[in-house]
Amino acid sequence: MAMTNAFSQSDMNNLSERDRTLVERRARILGPAYRLFYQNPVNIVRGEGVFLEDADGKRYLDAYNNVASVGHCHPAVVEAITRQTAVLNTHTRYIYEPLLDYAEDLISTFPVHLGQIMLTCTGSEANDLAFRLAKSVTGGTGVIVTDLAYHGLTNAVSEFSPSLGAFVDLGAHVRTVPAPDAYRTSSASLGETFKADVERAIAGMKRHGIKPAMLIVDAIFSSDGIFAEPAGFLKGAVDAIHAAGGLFVADEVQPGFGRTGDSMWGFERHGILPDLVTLGKPMGNGYPVAGLVARPEIIADFGEKARYFNTFGGNPVAVAAGHAVLKVIRDERLIDNAKNTGALIRKGIAEIATRRASIGDVRGAGLFIGIEIVSDREKKTPDGAMTTRIVNELRHRGVLISSAGPKANVLKIRPPLPFGPAHAGQLLTILDETIGALEAR
Ligand code: PMP
Repeated sequence: MAMTNAFSQSDMNNLSERDRTLVERRARILGPAYRLFYQNPVNIVRGEGVFLEDADGKRYLDAYNNVASVGHCHPAVVEAITRQTAVLNTHTRYIYEPLLDYAEDLISTFPVHLGQIMLTCTGSEANDLAFRLAKSVTGGTGVIVTDLAYHGLTNAVSEFSPSLGAFVDLGAHVRTVPAPDAYRTSSASLGETFKADVERAIAGMKRHGIKPAMLIVDAIFSSDGIFAEPAGFLKGAVDAIHAAGGLFVADEVQPGFGRTGDSMWGFERHGILPDLVTLGKPMGNGYPVAGLVARPEIIADFGEKARYFNTFGGNPVAVAAGHAVLKVIRDERLIDNAKNTGALIRKGIAEIATRRASIGDVRGAGLFIGIEIVSDREKKTPDGAMTTRIVNELRHRGVLISSAGPKANVLKIRPPLPFGPAHAGQLLTILDETIGALEAR
């Protein structure tokens, strides 16, 4: 599978005796499909807020983990999970009022037309269910995704997750379109270009007798390379899929729950109304909670034909975790913090770029930031090797980030949402020193 910033067998000799033993043991028992981050993988044993600690007691500034979105081991979430675990954990086949309280509270953060919710355990399951709903209501099967999208791991969803690499076949019903990249194409016509690409994909499908079911987009394009501006560029494409009778699905597994800083949901920045929105990762701060919200007519159509029961999805502990997360986002004003700290980081990186020629572009929204690393600014030549060096040197210096994009040359910064100005300062100082040291080599 294509994955940037992965440990490879050739890095084995650089590991300590202890870590080599652990990595070999891991490979023996888990087999070859799993990946580790970093040339020198980290053995994390503890987390608190925006910090992680390894087995040797070394602390890392975590500028990458979006699952522990309100901070590692947030006391309010820990307390909610612990309390509920001691009282009851069943499933959605019993009347259970806290589920309804949570569902209503969560639904209230969406545009009114998205009036119903279904709960799963993972983002993959949410996207798998979204596809079932879309097929049911449209009568189509066709799916349009961006070139390097990742939407999940089930059989059906892996068929529309091209970032899994060339050996994982896309479905015959799947078409890919280039992600809207304002760095390499004109930002003025970005929306029109994206719309035209989606229209071409629809026409291509129809030519093969395939009726479109959905266009599914991660509104922050996290695996494609992080594209956020100019906000609004998704509008035309949404109109195009609607005109063709398909649904627009916003995959909020990455941008959702306040990360983009402007609003709770990433799609809102684009002024569009999705038919379905899928949720995951940050929803339970690490507890497996995921799901989708939809126009009730869509769920009505599906519900007439099929029943849905997900044993663990929406169980009382999941509900407790999810509701605690929602409350923390509000109580700690984390959306404002994402906006302000994110702006501070981007401003700081733009300043560093005046001295460090490797930085070709800085972009993103809120606390989802991409830095394009290039070997030639004029030609915008992607420098994946330098990007890997930066990621690994930062890890060595106690800051965790990763990389993304088709050429693995986009630094991906995506810290827990309580990341404040002091953390931003620490990140910027170490990033500046790291790039400086590597450029001097
Ligand atoms: N959609 C997006 C955009 C994702 O990034 C991911 C996970 N990386 C998923 C869906 C799948 O979520 P999960 O791993 O919880 O199945």
